[in-house]
Amino acid sequence: MPEFVEVEAYRRTVEPLVGARIDAIDVIDDRILRRSEPAFVYGVVGGASIERTRRIGKVLLLDLSGGHTASLTFGLRGWLSLDGRVALASGGWRDRQPKPEHVRLRLDVGGKIVELEDQLRLATLEIDIDESILGVDVMTLTKTQLIDLLRRTSRAVKTALMDQHRIAGIGNLIADEIFYEAGVDPRRAASDLDDDELSALWAGLRRTRERVLERNGSHQGALIQSGARERGGRCPRCDVELQRVQVGGRTTYFCPGHQH
Ligand SMILES: [Zn+2]
Repeated sequence: MPEFVEVEAYRRTVEPLVGARIDAIDVIDDRILRRSEPAFVYGVVGGASIERTRRIGKVLLLDLSGGHTASLTFGLRGWLSLDGRVALASGGWRDRQPKPEHVRLRLDVGGKIVELEDQLRLATLEIDIDESILGVDVMTLTKTQLIDLLRRTSRAVKTALMDQHRIAGIGNLIADEIFYEAGVDPRRAASDLDDDELSALWAGLRRTRERVLERNGSHQGALIQSGARERGGRCPRCDVELQRVQVGGRTTYFCPGHQH
């Protein structure tokens, strides 16, 4: 599932198009429009210029001339290319051609081709979403904001961290990495964490945020890269077998040896 780091790469992929005009929009699969009328979407997007690209959590936003904003979400295995290339979150580009049979949306922007590949048909394209329901983006989140949010809820701290209405951009893999780094049990009630634990969680979040950006992917954390995040995997720090549990309906790996 794309998390903030993947969607940041997709934002960078379309950033070179700022100022250019969307000469053509081809919605190959109407299902990405969800409730929107195709004619409305074509009318808003076709012929508009891209004035700005933004990202809030896992949502990519394109501010268009005419005052509308197009937003894209990607779902599992959804991604964007520009003329067969994808930008990296850390800078630079790599070649990646979408499979023609999985392309659901194609834009011609000043002669450059943007394609959305979405094998599982989970991506969405919407116009003028309610941005106020999105939480603080994880890349700009401060320690004070994190602590304020967690002190106010008695839900499991992992569930609180992944609530896109509070903190936008953290998905399942990055969340497990943050708790592993912080030494905190993800099942704990958020409001029960003491000051030291909250500080450790903040440090774990910062470290994980930097690492996945530098290494270009939510799967680049220490737990996954060590091969430990699988059934029977052992903690790279204390060699204890990781526990696999459900937290808020999401499969969660944590170490009973150092995460308390
Ligand atoms: Zn451990």
